[in-house]
Amino acid sequence: MLVDNHNRKINYLRLAVTDRCNLRCNYCMPSEGIDFVKKDKLLTIDELLLLSEILVKQGIDKIRITGGEPFVRKDLMVLLRKLRLMKNLNDISVTTNATLIGPYIDELKTLGIKNINVSLDAINRKTFERITRRDQFDTVHNNLIRLITEGFNVRINFIVLEGQNQQDIVPILELMKHYNVSVRFLEEMPFNGGGKNFATIKWNYKEILEHISMAYPNFQKLESPSTSTSINYKIEGHKGTFGIIPSFSRTFCGSCNRLRITATGDVITCLYGKPKANLRDIVRGKNITEEVQSAILKAVGNRAKTGFEAQEEHAQTIFENSMTSIGG
Ligand code: SAM
Ligand code: SF4
Repeated sequence: MLVDNHNRKINYLRLAVTDRCNLRCNYCMPSEGIDFVKKDKLLTIDELLLLSEILVKQGIDKIRITGGEPFVRKDLMVLLRKLRLMKNLNDISVTTNATLIGPYIDELKTLGIKNINVSLDAINRKTFERITRRDQFDTVHNNLIRLITEGFNVRINFIVLEGQNQQDIVPILELMKHYNVSVRFLEEMPFNGGGKNFATIKWNYKEILEHISMAYPNFQKLESPSTSTSINYKIEGHKGTFGIIPSFSRTFCGSCNRLRITATGDVITCLYGKPKANLRDIVRGKNITEEVQSAILKAVGNRAKTGFEAQEEHAQTIFENSMTSIGG
């Protein structure tokens, strides 16, 4: 079992399989001039599998596949098929923008990979295009409805962006009223490739909740697992639930059970901190298992207590990182 230096059990790996994406969400990356890493710097499917296997032996039992956009990687299903066979890996999930998932929905269902997070920050074509800089709303909407009706456990991630989509907060709840989905509203984080000062944000979790309570004064708070990053609620008459993720306010660090590996093999123990090791050379060298395990133990044994403490590793509040390299 992996336990960090603050006695938090680490059993959840977020594995980024690429830094590339077919959208250009303005809160995640710039419109152009992005320095995607060279292909040979990205972990191969075999390397991703080997790392997963080693980490599962160390106590990881849940892996979320993320990116960039996981489905831009043509060999993604090869990875998922093999992960599915991995002993002691109890939960495989995917975070996606749902533009390219369509052709893979049947196989995902067959494989039993049912937990899909769909990022969707708008309920109409225009707002969607303004935020993502691509005209893909219809495809995303169709795939989303298909995933829901085919019985996947779908969670929608909606980043609340001042001046861009706050008018869609209540309508998306209304739109999803008849579906068994969880709509999670996220605070924006300072990882958009740089350029914006993030000393405070307007749409913090309190603002979001207050905004929702004006339309639905009687929602009820739900019990959530202790490691959940979202605070969850139920509106009477709605089939699904909604949640708020205080990703910028960082109220959930005390129970954080996550470890991140980027598509280039960086080990990240907190979104707000710096990478603590790189596994790419190790996984391409000798004594792989031993060295990976030791790098992971060292990173996990040296974790910041909170995101605020981790942030002190940076000299400023404008981060140069984009979420597309960290994986969210
Ligand atoms: N491309 C996939 C997607 O969008 O779902 C997976 C990768 S994306 C980087 C993972 C998650 O990070 C998404 O839910 C996205 O909304 C979120 N994200 C990206 N940039 C963010 C930011 N600046 N603040 C908060 N969340 C962000
Ligand atoms: Fe791509 Fe996801 Fe970032 Fe949007 S949030 S640009 S879909 S990686």
